[in-house]
Amino acid sequence: MINHSRLAWILDLLVEHKLLHAGQKTDVLNRGPEQARHIMLDKRAEMRRLLGKQRVSYTVSEVEIIASFRFRPFEGELGDGESLISERVITKLIAEELGMTFREIDPIQLDYKLVTEAFGGPFAERHMIIAVDETPEELTVGIADPWNTDALAQVERFKRKRVTPVLALKSAILQAIAEFHGFRRSMKAAAKEFSSDLPDLGNLEQLYKLQSLSEIDATDQPVVQAVWYILNYAFDHRASDIHVEPKREESFVRLRIDGVLHTIHRLPKVVHNAMISRLKMLARMDIAERRRPQDGRFKTSHNKQEIELRVSTVPTAFGEKVVVRVFDPGVLLQDLENLGFFRKELLAFQSFIHASTGLILVTGPTGSGKTTTLYSTLHTISNPRLNICTLEDPIEMVHESFNQMAIQRQIGFDYGQAIRHVLRQDPDVIMIGEIRDAETAQYAVQAALTGHLVISTLHTNDSSSAITRLTDLGVERYLLASVLVGVVAQRLVRKICPHCAENDWISEEQALALGIPGADGRKLMVKTGKGCVRCRGTGYRGRTGLYEVMPMTPRITRLIQDGSPAQDIKRESLNDGMLTLRDYGIKKLGRGETTYEEVLAATDEVKLY
Ligand SMILES: [Zn+2]
Repeated sequence: MINHSRLAWILDLLVEHKLLHAGQKTDVLNRGPEQARHIMLDKRAEMRRLLGKQRVSYTVSEVEIIASFRFRPFEGELGDGESLISERVITKLIAEELGMTFREIDPIQLDYKLVTEAFGGPFAERHMIIAVDETPEELTVGIADPWNTDALAQVERFKRKRVTPVLALKSAILQAIAEFHGFRRSMKAAAKEFSSDLPDLGNLEQLYKLQSLSEIDATDQPVVQAVWYILNYAFDHRASDIHVEPKREESFVRLRIDGVLHTIHRLPKVVHNAMISRLKMLARMDIAERRRPQDGRFKTSHNKQEIELRVSTVPTAFGEKVVVRVFDPGVLLQDLENLGFFRKELLAFQSFIHASTGLILVTGPTGSGKTTTLYSTLHTISNPRLNICTLEDPIEMVHESFNQMAIQRQIGFDYGQAIRHVLRQDPDVIMIGEIRDAETAQYAVQAALTGHLVISTLHTNDSSSAITRLTDLGVERYLLASVLVGVVAQRLVRKICPHCAENDWISEEQALALGIPGADGRKLMVKTGKGCVRCRGTGYRGRTGLYEVMPMTPRITRLIQDGSPAQDIKRESLNDGMLTLRDYGIKKLGRGETTYEEVLAATDEVKLY
């Protein structure tokens, strides 16, 4: 199991670099074996559940044990965007101490042929080794264990050329091995096994005919594993959606990460249906039904977090397309502090949500993060003494401390009906997914008037137009003025990857385009991500909100009562110190949180109408 002298050697190294203190070293030495057992059991349980295999093995490394303690550095900063003594921090330090090169492994950058042909999957897994570069004289391999000289000697003997090891993260190597040896192997196996007696699954017509033929079995092990790899890959990369799209010749697997789609795999067409069937089976959908769109959901877990997946299928010209939406509570349910509010706006928003009655509106287009704001808000105010009811279309995430109701228009259970119903359930807080018709607007205001806190969303561009939208929907101005607590308009922008952020400048023209005055021919310093392995070369990692927070003041209340136009209400709020979405974005740009392009795109009003 654990090599104690090696564990002690690494700990000494960390103490020497003042990353840990002696007490922490002792702590790890004492609790290490126990911790190792937990890590192994967790990893094995996860693999067993997801792979559906009983026999799985996992060897825990000394680096993993230390990293699992999640220590903060004893002295100084780690840099490179790291805050904890992580696997990366420890591995880099070991590489430095041993005079080895540290290398980031990105599955996307690796050469598939080289990786799969350099040596077999079982060997790669056993020795945690992966081929990364090859010249006629030399083979460069990424290894996780620098002390495993046996494996290197074996490779050298077998390859008859110089083998140069570079140190890499164990997690990255294992992921790449799964990716290449596992995933592509399962694809190959599935394709080989089933391609012989199947016609091209080219179009819908052929799909119907196929029903009578033997089809790829969705419970077939390679397919089960392939789906497992894709799901885990998606979770590891914080993807919000997984698309499996049939094309004429092949099928694409694409992931949406931070709002942008990336193509990560191309599948042989013959495997496509089996993958779709596996996903449909997991989501308890009718596998035989391929002509009609279907919806389903299932749950799985990743790093001890339960993740809900919502699957939907539609028939397309080239076959069935599946989109899996990933509902990661770590994304949907956040602390309000982590949503991207500046302190002043956070305090204003907190004062809204701690009101006991009234109406709070969150506005913005689709994909602006309203749902996350709503859930995070309800989560913040939830306590056992409050009855929180939500009306949603559809329910985005199931949370046991809320009473959630799904709107079902097809049977006539619309927002209006749902609100009437829920009011009989003695609610304290009511979340209404969206106000888009007069009836819902009336009931929302009515509920707020009768002593409930109502939180809802509207599809408007900024905070002040939410007010005119409601009066357009027939809400009496004096009623609205008396119930409205506050309005928040929001957008999402991508955050600059902390691992590759560097200084950059924007020109005066660019500054003027954003409406930043007084540049006077000088360039303005900002930040940009140059792209690295941890952001898939995009320069961005994660997203943050821009918020226009409008509290109600006596003057604004009067403007609403008087039926003043949105721009007058907005001007009044700006006089009170409200930041527009654009100004909020510029402030984030100045702080190096996001880029010029993101702020411009997210607050380009023309585009939004
Ligand atoms: Zn980066």
